[in-house]
Amino acid sequence: MNVKTRESLIRGNPISHGIAIGNLALFTHDNGAIPQRDVPLSEVPHELDRYDEALKNTKKDLQRLKEQLESDRSQEAAAILETHLQLLDDPILVTEIKDNIVKTKKNADYVFQCFLLQYQKKFNEIKDLFFRERGCDLLDISRRVLGHLRGAERSSLALMPPNTIVFSHEVAASDVAEVDLQNICAIISDTGGNTSHAAIVAKAKGIPYVANVSYELIESALNTEVIVDAQAGDIILFPSKKTLSKFHRARKQIYATFQELEKICPLKAETYDGYKMGLVANIEMVNEIELLHQYGVAGVGLFRSEYIFLSKQKFPTEEEQFDIYSRIVSEMRGLPIVIRTFDIGGDKLTIEQQATHKGNPYLGCRAIRFLLREPDIFRAQIRAILRASEKGNVSIMFPMISDLSELIEAKELIAEVQNELSHSGKTIEKKVRIGCMIEVPSAAMIADLLAKECDFIAIGTNDLVQYLLAVDRSNQAVNKLYNPMHPALIRMLKLVVGQASQYGVPVSVCGEIAGDPRFTPLLIGLGINELSVSLRNLPLIKKVIRHTSVVRCHELVEEVQSLSTPGEIQDLLNQEFQSTFPEEYHHIALT
Ligand code: PEP
Ligand code: MG
Repeated sequence: MNVKTRESLIRGNPISHGIAIGNLALFTHDNGAIPQRDVPLSEVPHELDRYDEALKNTKKDLQRLKEQLESDRSQEAAAILETHLQLLDDPILVTEIKDNIVKTKKNADYVFQCFLLQYQKKFNEIKDLFFRERGCDLLDISRRVLGHLRGAERSSLALMPPNTIVFSHEVAASDVAEVDLQNICAIISDTGGNTSHAAIVAKAKGIPYVANVSYELIESALNTEVIVDAQAGDIILFPSKKTLSKFHRARKQIYATFQELEKICPLKAETYDGYKMGLVANIEMVNEIELLHQYGVAGVGLFRSEYIFLSKQKFPTEEEQFDIYSRIVSEMRGLPIVIRTFDIGGDKLTIEQQATHKGNPYLGCRAIRFLLREPDIFRAQIRAILRASEKGNVSIMFPMISDLSELIEAKELIAEVQNELSHSGKTIEKKVRIGCMIEVPSAAMIADLLAKECDFIAIGTNDLVQYLLAVDRSNQAVNKLYNPMHPALIRMLKLVVGQASQYGVPVSVCGEIAGDPRFTPLLIGLGINELSVSLRNLPLIKKVIRHTSVVRCHELVEEVQSLSTPGEIQDLLNQEFQSTFPEEYHHIALT
């Protein structure tokens, strides 16, 4: 047997669990510089043909995507693709590039990339929102054209063929958001942390994902069948028949465990000694609401609203947002939903921000900071949410508050918009509840002051951990230090609950630990009122709630508080979970 095709195992870090078997392909964002090549005069017509072909194939892709979206009833997204299709006939794309290929006698992909960079710069300078948005559209389709010009390396995950396992050096949340589950069965990346937004979307969509794998180690297996075992974090290259059948069986077993767990859905989220725990869902995509009803979930504790435009990378208008929120709120059929205002920045940057951001985006102009600086964008979102709130039970929540004045300013904006709407005849009769996220240590330390000013508090532990421990949540290099089982976090949770309860303000946790079954008894014992959990983890968390008693939860808090290091706490919580639940649950838990 050839050495190159002998079965081999590469170990990475499991990010989103599951097992997948598929063909390995490379995905690039095409941000790297494309080498320029002089093209002899006789080959210029060939370069022009190559360019025409790329435009033609991009049209085909967009047409196919548009039809798919129409059949999924995503009319807004389909309309955007229709505009993209029209833009493909734009003289800039059709004539100007070809003229430049002839004039410079350089390779088409190089000429095209120069065009992209030049236009990106121009559009960033334009103040007019309409033209800036048109610029974003143009850049979006240009990336697809470039992908075709560069052949095997695709520039959009939406364009991958069926049964693909994708490798990408970096994966953005917007990339995963546009993944079509019919085509992509797993993701592998070089960088990326456990609570990065790409990871959160992968978990929500149920896509197995392994990070910390360098390209050189798997390159030899490109275009061959590989196995991703995202339970263990393993990639198996050139698997033997025996290994393949072992993993086919394992995949079936996981599926069966999930199905078994779903039987718990109609039952209450209540400990066996009768304590009722709030259990709601985190959602990123509108189409998750269907599953929410199937699971009989009581509501949505966190709707990450920025996902409505992340893969399009431009801000939707008030009317576009109103349409989307109205649909979501109506589809909730009266169940409560917490809409979090846009959390832009951090690892979710728009095209404009990517081009202009400086320094560490997590510590910069992110979330509420961004919204307060961009009142037009903030106002449009608040207007759209308030108008849609008439159709159901809506709360608004602000991300990344670090100081009381931000909460007050945001609340003032809501009051102003409410006034404006009632004066213009669009009465907002219902009072929306207002919530404040605790994601920054300074907010935790003033939780009492914040609690006085809001109706509920939601602890975003994904960010709280990164800001408390000074560990970037998306950076694989410091992944081991990113540990929510740190005693500092446990103390901080206790502090927030104590301060909020002085004012009778309920506290929820909506970070990833809420969906980690090892944390469930601890969070109940700490006095957290509600867990907001990614839908896929919800049945397991309900199972854990039903298998525990409040008495044990309080004991566990005592035991955890007597420990000094994250490692000791981790050992205790792992042991508690593993000794209570059968082995098949250990495999699907987020450990
Ligand atoms: C969090 O930080 O815990 C949170 C829920 O928000 P996000 O993951 O979207 O940053
Ligand atoms: Mg957050």
